[in-house]
Order: sequence, then C-alpha cells, then structure tokens
Amino acid sequence: MAVMDVVKYGNPILRKKCAEVTDFDSLPELVNNMFDTMYEEEGVGLAANQVGLNLKLMIIDVSHMDEAEETHVFVNGKITDSWGESIIEEGCLSIPEVRLEVKRPEFIKFKYKTMGGEKKEEEFSGLLARAIQHENDHLNGIFIIDRVSPIVRMQVKKQLKEITKESGINRKNKDRKISFVL
Ligand SMILES: [Zn+2]
Repeated sequence: MAVMDVVKYGNPILRKKCAEVTDFDSLPELVNNMFDTMYEEEGVGLAANQVGLNLKLMIIDVSHMDEAEETHVFVNGKITDSWGESIIEEGCLSIPEVRLEVKRPEFIKFKYKTMGGEKKEEEFSGLLARAIQHENDHLNGIFIIDRVSPIVRMQVKKQLKEITKESGINRKNKDRKISFVL
C-alpha cells in the first residue's frame, strides 16, 4: 500500500491542463497507489494532478453511495456531449472543509481509454457522471470554486487563502464527514 500526498489548492499543478498518457505500462502501479490514497483520504474520486502527476488520468469509486457501482479508471478522457442539469453539494480533497453546491449537466457522453489502452465512448448519469465532471475539471485546471457564483466564491475566500498558505503541508482532517468529496 502506497499512500501519496494530496496536493492542495494553491499548488500550480492543479491549474495545469494535464498531458495525455502515452506510457500505459506504468499505469497499473500508479493507479493502485492512487486508489490507496483516495481511500485513505475518504474521497470518491481522484485526479492524477491531485497527487502531483501531470497526467490525464482519474479514478472513481462511488460504490459506497450507489451499490450498483464499481471502481473506474479513465485515461485521456474527454466529455463529448452533455445535457440536463442538477445541483449537488461537492467537496474536494484539494480544498479541505469547503463544500459548495455545484450546478452541472446531469448526463454526459464521455470518450476515454481504459488502462489497457482500449478506446471507449459511453453515456453516464447520476453520481458517476458528477464525479467524472469534477475530476475532468481537475485535469483541465478547474476547481469547484470556478463553478459557483462570485458571491459564493467570496464567502470561501478566507478559507482558500489559508489552504494556499498551508499548501504542501499534509494535514489530516479528522472530522471530515463523507458526503461527496473528490
Ligand atoms: Zn476535487
């Protein structure tokens, strides 16, 4: 088991558009470590740049909220279509303690590669579609705070400043209640 440090808001890698994965051979070990990290941090999704890696790679496991679900690994993903609308409260492992109601399309069409390099394009809905959009945002340098109104953003400005200040220091958040943190 290898738990990596989750990088926090303020670290420049989280504002980068991540690079396509070309070396698929190194993925299994990396993905294993990402799952260890995500479970340790009690998240339901994790993007590679959240552990400091400039790679278009994300993992998701919403099975504790939706029993029909399983674990997912998406490589070089791209949202090709979206429709509908829903508002759900989201948290983010890179912005500890901040929860924001984020409006997003309810359904997406997502093109990606599997860990084995197989090309796929599928439609997703519900929590999984939500998680994919959150992680896909990370891989494009976008945070949940970019998805809310300027007024809401103002309300968390102080917290963001503190997180930026402490960025790089791995702090544990003991009473983080699991809702939807990715
Ligand atoms: Zn996040």
